[in-house]
Amino acid sequence: MTSRHAGRHFLQIPGPSAVPDRILRAISAQTIDHRGPDFAAVGKTALDGMKTIFKTEAGQVIIFPASGTGAWEAALINTMQEGDRVLMYETGHFSMLWMKMAKRLGLNPEFIEGDWRGGADPEAIAKRLREDKNHEIKAVCVVHNETSTGSVSPIADVRSAIDETDHPALLMVDSISGLASVDFRFDEWGVDVCVSGSQKGLMLPPGISFNCVGPRAMEVSSKGGMRRSYWDWQDMTGPNETGYFPYTPATNMLYGLNETVEMLHEEGLDNVFARHARHGAATRAAVRAWGLEVLCAQQGQESGVLTAVLMPEGHSADAFRATVLKNFDISLGNGLSKVADRVFRIGHLGDFNDAMLMGTLSGIEMGLEKAGVPHEKGGTAAAMEVLKGDYTHSLAAE
Ligand SMILES: *Cc1c(COP(=O)(O)O)cnc(C)c1O
Repeated sequence: MTSRHAGRHFLQIPGPSAVPDRILRAISAQTIDHRGPDFAAVGKTALDGMKTIFKTEAGQVIIFPASGTGAWEAALINTMQEGDRVLMYETGHFSMLWMKMAKRLGLNPEFIEGDWRGGADPEAIAKRLREDKNHEIKAVCVVHNETSTGSVSPIADVRSAIDETDHPALLMVDSISGLASVDFRFDEWGVDVCVSGSQKGLMLPPGISFNCVGPRAMEVSSKGGMRRSYWDWQDMTGPNETGYFPYTPATNMLYGLNETVEMLHEEGLDNVFARHARHGAATRAAVRAWGLEVLCAQQGQESGVLTAVLMPEGHSADAFRATVLKNFDISLGNGLSKVADRVFRIGHLGDFNDAMLMGTLSGIEMGLEKAGVPHEKGGTAAAMEVLKGDYTHSLAAE
């Protein structure tokens, strides 16, 4: 590319999300000795800070220099044995990838099929657990915010489903794209392991990921799990107590992480969640006014992180995305696997405000026209109606 694009690029994919200047500046500080005396405070602040984001006191946060996929693997191999049955729910592409990983690791995943248009169904999980009289299922694995579809699973209800069947399976949750954007409560919801990553709601570049580990999962892993070395939780525990790591941590990413946690608390986590929910509502209003369809069909489970939009029959989502990128310098998310070229995804997560959302939606509306996609006018106007009203978001309803 030779031509310069004036102004900021709009990175409206559902992760990586745009990194705020404050975080970029924090990351740009000199790398220090990760075994030296000054590092302890950096490491301790990061580990303690993340506990407030996961909302846990009993849980232990593990930080890996890896993408989210590494933390997925860590969650499984620290707790499961080869051949173990794990119950997973097909919410979309990411649930499918986690299931395939479980298979490759020698686990025996059972996949409850879904239609990619909503979150995990607690009733279906309870039904399967009730049939499992011998407790062969060792874990229930659910994606909290399914980034391929824009649906949120009701994690508290999944916990209730496990409890009401008196089943001992561990509850493992992928909140890689949910954490810090959609309400998440590790302790209160009785989650045993939560997997997360840096480049979505946490507003950091890609590169670090997390396991939040509850006491039961830690106990299971101390006695079992699979062969592992780099990913071993136990190796982290000792050094982490004083803010250190068993091997070189991503030092500069931890500077950024400490800035993130500060920013999230300055705004207030509940305000962050409400902002995301409100942007989701405005985006859906735009999509419906255009006469297009939102992929998530379950009312109340629509994500505040992203909105996946179905293209009208016979029109390519990827061609449309290319038009929007070329003309307006806006990157939109592509459809993944089953919905490839059928949907485009609008990311509205992270460090994002009303005017940025309106810029994004305007680019999409102009792009629909340019690409010759049949639609009604007035999507942006409908979004503005939502944004200027006093939209109230009830966390309790989630
Ligand atoms: C992004 C994402 C992943 C994969 O994380 P990587 O950092 O790309 O390895 C897994 N699950 C969900 C829900 C995601 O959004």
